[in-house]
Amino acid sequence: MVITRFAPSPTGYLHLGHAFAALFAAAAGERLMLRIEDIDVGRCRAEFDTAIRDDLRWLGVGFAEPVLRQSQRFAAYRDALARLSARGLVYPCFCTRKDILDAASAPHNQAQGPDGPTYPGICRDLSDAERRTRIDAGKPYALRLDAAKAAAAVGDLWFDESGAGSNVEPGRIKVDPLWFGDVVLARKDAPASYHLAVVLDDAYQGVNLITRGCDLFAASHIQRVLQALLDLPVPAYRHHRLILDDTGKKFSKRDAAATLRTMRNSGITANEIKKRLGF
Ligand code: GLU
Repeated sequence: MVITRFAPSPTGYLHLGHAFAALFAAAAGERLMLRIEDIDVGRCRAEFDTAIRDDLRWLGVGFAEPVLRQSQRFAAYRDALARLSARGLVYPCFCTRKDILDAASAPHNQAQGPDGPTYPGICRDLSDAERRTRIDAGKPYALRLDAAKAAAAVGDLWFDESGAGSNVEPGRIKVDPLWFGDVVLARKDAPASYHLAVVLDDAYQGVNLITRGCDLFAASHIQRVLQALLDLPVPAYRHHRLILDDTGKKFSKRDAAATLRTMRNSGITANEIKKRLGF
């Protein structure tokens, strides 16, 4: 059975891009797991949380119960980080945004990842004693993956892509484990980063096909590395084209006019939305 998932964050109302992903999975007759990505507790709001289910039902998209929430999963994230840490694959990073920007502007530190310059490695080689001193002094820290060590540990990896979003070639994709550099796995203010939480939760929910927009295609590379490091089952991927707003830009949660809630309140029907999206 194909088990896929829809994983929005309750930081705004669902928009047309979200509707496309959910309808796409539903139209294929797959089992759809819903996951509320509320790891960023401070930014999530109860009204958006309720609206996610409500707007999905209004669209006619069914999903399996119970719905998983990332805020219930903090112990699993901590456990995974402890396993990676015991293997020396993560290290504490005390840098502020400014430290990173200053270092990344030096000409020899210009490696580019999918989201901009990669981390220039400032905290990678601190001694254990120095780490201890800073931690004992109460300095906040994130945990970063040591990408070079991780790459050596996992060897060559691939993932299967069946989508055809812009810039996405379907087929067997060779993973670039260094593309994101030393990516953050636990933030200073949250017990896991998006990448870590997503791989653990997809495995936990038995997801075997990841459906999402092609803006997350690059993320599959680092997520595949984390699956290998954590011995998780490997799902297939299906990245769909992005649904753009009337000005050709990606939908923004701040753009109220593009939300399902606004369209619904203005009298647009679920069928009209399906038609507009090609269903
Ligand atoms: N939470 C992301 C979003 O709302 C989706 C993450 C994913 O599908 O991996 O777009």
